[in-house]
Amino acid sequence: MSVNRKYDAIVIGGATVTEEIFPGFKFTVCSYVVSLLKPNVIRELQLPKFGLELVPLESTFTPLEGDYLIRWADHDLTRRELYRHSPRDAEAYNRFGQTMSQIGMAVRPILNSIAPDPTKLGLSGARTLMDLGRHLRSLGADKFEQLAKLMTMSSADFLDEWFEFEPLKSTMSASGIIGTFMGPKSPGSAYVMLHHYMGDIDGVFRAWGFQRGGTGAVSMAIARSAEHFGAEIMTEAGVSTIITRNGRATGVALENGDEYEADVVVSGLDPKQTFLNLVDGADLPADFVQSVKNFRIRGSSGKVNLALDGLPDFTCLPGGGPHLGGAISISPDFDYIENAYDDAKHGSFSKRPYIDIVLPSVLDPDMAPHGKHVMSCFVQYAPYNINGGWNDAKREAFGDAVVDALACFAPNIRDIILHRQVLTPWDLEQTFGLTEGNIFHGELALQQLFFLRPVVKWADYRTPIKKLYQCGSGTHPGGGITGAPGEMAAKKILKEWR
Ligand SMILES: Cc1cc2nc3c(=O)[nH]c(=O)nc-3n(C[C@H](O)[C@H](O)[C@H](O)COP(=O)(O)OP(=O)(O)OC[C@H]3O[C@@H](n4cnc5c(N)ncnc54)[C@H](O)[C@@H]3O)c2cc1C
Repeated sequence: MSVNRKYDAIVIGGATVTEEIFPGFKFTVCSYVVSLLKPNVIRELQLPKFGLELVPLESTFTPLEGDYLIRWADHDLTRRELYRHSPRDAEAYNRFGQTMSQIGMAVRPILNSIAPDPTKLGLSGARTLMDLGRHLRSLGADKFEQLAKLMTMSSADFLDEWFEFEPLKSTMSASGIIGTFMGPKSPGSAYVMLHHYMGDIDGVFRAWGFQRGGTGAVSMAIARSAEHFGAEIMTEAGVSTIITRNGRATGVALENGDEYEADVVVSGLDPKQTFLNLVDGADLPADFVQSVKNFRIRGSSGKVNLALDGLPDFTCLPGGGPHLGGAISISPDFDYIENAYDDAKHGSFSKRPYIDIVLPSVLDPDMAPHGKHVMSCFVQYAPYNINGGWNDAKREAFGDAVVDALACFAPNIRDIILHRQVLTPWDLEQTFGLTEGNIFHGELALQQLFFLRPVVKWADYRTPIKKLYQCGSGTHPGGGITGAPGEMAAKKILKEWR
């Protein structure tokens, strides 16, 4: 079957879009790598046929002063590299990987289950909890202990129990802070690390990949698949109100005044946008509204996308090479990241931020003109509630702080920047409708997961308004390019429809 090109001239996809912000340079504007996209969603939506093509990231490179750490997809290479820094860590790394895989596998069924209402367990809710119990029991006592620690500890404390080489621990801990307003030493950050451990690429557990054409090509593949299966997508069609009648959703009104009637309305926006902005509060119970207000959605991340005249040259590993074809992590030690968090805690962007870098044009040359490159820098921390509020000068100062932090490790960076795009959490809110710029539509904190996401008793995609459902990252199992909330919301709706 030929791929439908109807949407090629349109950018679809919220926080996954790829855009040619400067001629010839395609930026993965917000999200940049894929791992958590569910294999059954890929299969059922036939996404490869519609353009999904993931290129695995082969390494994570942490530049240091005078040295570096590289973890490779190839286990033996990583082991050899770790031996150079700490034979003890090289030995522990294998066991750690196995433990995290087994825990991830045991917990992963949660991602495939509609969260039960613990206050009113029906048959299917009880079955879900029993299934979960069975998976957890299969872990055995020692792994169960590790799981309990992951659910409660900070990523720094958890990793301290396993390893001694600081750059290894700090780089691994970084996945525990992504999208959260926590530092690596904050209790709860270990769980976020586990969340990022649960993905796979082509069945390779916890692998991350780059979508050819950027993550925007994932949303375009979904759009083409949706159209193939009969959906119609309208763009430039902001919804201003969800219309209700007698406690039941009956359609939507657009910002341009057009109204559409519907049997079912499904919102993919975050819970605050849906329930505090689009719905008439009089249709919702007061305690529900209060819970939505309490839902924590603090923005902490920014994005800096660079168009480059060449490749960055890292002092610790000069020249090109495979280390530029994977992730590059500016995370030399725990104190570096924790200090970055301290700045945010006190209302400033990090002077020396944690940066997660990918060079998309190294993985897919079509992302930039011949000989030039694009660099995607995901940055923490940039608090939404910055002292005095965000303005143009602060946005530029934040961009400068990122370039300065890069220049500590790759001094040529300043000379090769042709253009830059700087996105603060405020920009993420204004452009993509993400409340406070939170990348996951709400923090992945223990009190906001499973049957508590977004609100207890309403974690099964229903809402207090009949025929209004929710399906975005603010619902179980949370954010990332996963397809999971949408898939389970669809299942719930189909079940109720019948
Ligand atoms: C900076 C950043 C980096 C990220 N990096 C990664 C990554 O590398 N890997 C990963 O897996 N995930 C990443 N994420 C998270 C990932 O992008 C999101 O989890 C994913 O996009 C969620 O998809 P969604 O469709 O649920 O919501 P969204 O992508 O938020 O899409 C919601 C859509 O609704 C539209 N909208 C908002 N208000 C209205 C309205 N009133 N009417 C009509 N439409 C409206 C928005 O314009 C948007 O198109 C990142 C997110 C950000 C912001």
